[in-house]
Amino acid sequence: MSPGGADMRIRKTVMLLIAVAAALLLFTSFALSADRPRLIVFLSIDQMRADHLQRYAAEYTGGFKRLLTEGVVYLNADLNYANTSTGPGHATLSTGVYPWKSGIVGNNYIDRRNGRRTYCVEDSSTAKVDGGGGARSPHNLLATTIGDWLKASSPQSKVVSLSYKDRAAILMGGHNANYAFWYDQTVGRMVTSSYYTTTLPDWVKAFNASGWIEKNLPDSWTRLKEESVYSKYGPDVLEGEEPWGGSTGFPHPFQQKKILSQLFASPWGNTYLLDFAQEALRGENLGGRGVTDLLCISLSTTDNVGSDFGPNSHEMIDNLLRLDQDLGAFLAELEKAFGKGGVLFALGGDHGVMQLPEYLTTVEHTNARRIDSRVVAEGGMRALDSLMRIEYGVKEWIVKGSLINYPLIAQIGLKSKTIEDRIRGLLTKIDGNVEVVFRSDVIDKKTPKRPYLEAFRRSFMSDRSPDFFVRACENCLITEAKTGTSHGSPYLYDRTVPIAFWGTKSAPKKIDRLVHTVDIAATIGTKLGLRMPKNLDGIPLKEAMR
Ligand SMILES: [Zn+2]
Repeated sequence: MSPGGADMRIRKTVMLLIAVAAALLLFTSFALSADRPRLIVFLSIDQMRADHLQRYAAEYTGGFKRLLTEGVVYLNADLNYANTSTGPGHATLSTGVYPWKSGIVGNNYIDRRNGRRTYCVEDSSTAKVDGGGGARSPHNLLATTIGDWLKASSPQSKVVSLSYKDRAAILMGGHNANYAFWYDQTVGRMVTSSYYTTTLPDWVKAFNASGWIEKNLPDSWTRLKEESVYSKYGPDVLEGEEPWGGSTGFPHPFQQKKILSQLFASPWGNTYLLDFAQEALRGENLGGRGVTDLLCISLSTTDNVGSDFGPNSHEMIDNLLRLDQDLGAFLAELEKAFGKGGVLFALGGDHGVMQLPEYLTTVEHTNARRIDSRVVAEGGMRALDSLMRIEYGVKEWIVKGSLINYPLIAQIGLKSKTIEDRIRGLLTKIDGNVEVVFRSDVIDKKTPKRPYLEAFRRSFMSDRSPDFFVRACENCLITEAKTGTSHGSPYLYDRTVPIAFWGTKSAPKKIDRLVHTVDIAATIGTKLGLRMPKNLDGIPLKEAMR
């Protein structure tokens, strides 16, 4: 026998052994599926900063305390991309890929194929259900979610997703969710769209008819604990806070005319949604049908309270303390219903937030400020466009908003760099603007390394992204508003969020290595043994894998 023939036999034997090993592995993963939790609860807390878990740890006695003492908690987690807003945040949590693949590059984006501004979950082909909701679906989401992976491997599993915000509920649930529900503040009830169902389930109708607000909302929002608990973290009243009923300090009386929207600008918005989540568990018998079900919840009052009063305000502390209590009750219910090992609970966030500039200057003494550069920028860009049209003798626009008319530029024989240099020259002269990142910088892999470039890349999709991004200075709030704060920058304060797992078999621990929200879906999918897309950006978090 020739040496080559022996080689071939050895190779065949090795291949056979690999095939047997792979089959065994496959068998093992199915065998392990009997060990799957009955229910996965995936909670996103909108605009919760990573430091919210640590900073007030001494005050927590409920759900946050249980996560901190019984869970696997990642202290150094971030989004790892530039566009820190709600749509991209939730799509990243559920899909395990960055906006460059999920297609959700903003709450709104320009569809470059037709030039239309598009809301990330708009879908005019869907209708209202029982007189509410409608015109929404995950149609614009270009990636699959944990819920989709679960349904593909276990068609009997149910996926239910709920939030105050339509985009949070829809993007967390994915394409094959049984239901996504969100709150309509014009009528004060939970709604959905015909993408999911033609009529609301009876348990939703019953919840909507239950008079929750009348039964549960107090006359005024007051502090849960004594003022001294809050004051040690800073003052209650600060310049720059958005007044509630004319005052920025406690108490905050609910106003009858505004009560349907004030509900979700107060901690009771979380109570409302967690009560609704309990009804979902009962109404759909989630976790009680011999398969693994998924319940996604996104709580938004942190976003509303934080945007009005800032992340370190007494209002935010109170919001978190009350959420800690609500979450404690919710976890206790889960434990009672499903027992230890029966439920896997994952916590993530969609983005952080900048402190109020006034807080930063008054309390932390940094050089923070509000800059109203938008009018200057928009006016300046319009003037530049008019000037260039005259100079180059064209009637069509050359630059509009954050779009550049590259085909026209090529047509008149100009180099795109000439136009980009003029835009950069104008925008970087405006107070507060640091740099302009152009489409060509993002696409060209040879662009020299610079801060945030990779973060912009992970936020960029050619069909849906603008032609340039402007990065403002750190701790600078680019806004026309005199009060409140926001997010959306690539800076750490907008990018760091909590990640925690509870109900895993791993020993409680706190981990300080850098991880990303994109890793959560990969972790849950791997734990469940689901078949996941090959192009995931997330990496399973090993500490939570047991
Ligand atoms: Zn958000």
